[in-house]
Amino acid sequence: MPGRKPNCKAPLAGGTKCNKAEGHGSDGKDTKHVYTAPVVKERVGLDFSTITVQVANKAAMVAHKRTRGANAERDKDQLAVDKIVNSAYAAWTEAGKPAGWDVDKGYGILVKVPAAAVETLEWRIKRAGTFYDLKIRFGGTIVEDGYAEVCFVASDKPDETSE
Ligand SMILES: [Zn+2]
Repeated sequence: MPGRKPNCKAPLAGGTKCNKAEGHGSDGKDTKHVYTAPVVKERVGLDFSTITVQVANKAAMVAHKRTRGANAERDKDQLAVDKIVNSAYAAWTEAGKPAGWDVDKGYGILVKVPAAAVETLEWRIKRAGTFYDLKIRFGGTIVEDGYAEVCFVASDKPDETSE
């Protein structure tokens, strides 16, 4: 997302300030200073004559139970990232389930993605971790030539290991 330009801030009658982009009109066009009020979204009020409240019975508890991502739709991209996270867990297991970030062993998974997609990738990795009930630990991301290299480890949750 490109950064927002600072406002012009030229004072206007009525005490407001111009909130067009700073330097507008320097090209001879769009020279008028204007304050445009932000659109405030009103919250809908609660009409209690239309609302019911009750204690949930067992059936309702079942119907509303959150199942950590299990019911969430897993699209093609997520399934692909699930596989990457599975291989990360396999590598960690094969390395003897090291605690912390053990630099004497190679077991983290490196994923190189175009830098713009790195947040999506990390979000999907975390999602896979939640799905498989694994702890995901990210190392520092290295960005170079428009690519981001992510290194992460997928391990058991702390209460299942003797750290
Ligand atoms: Zn202005």
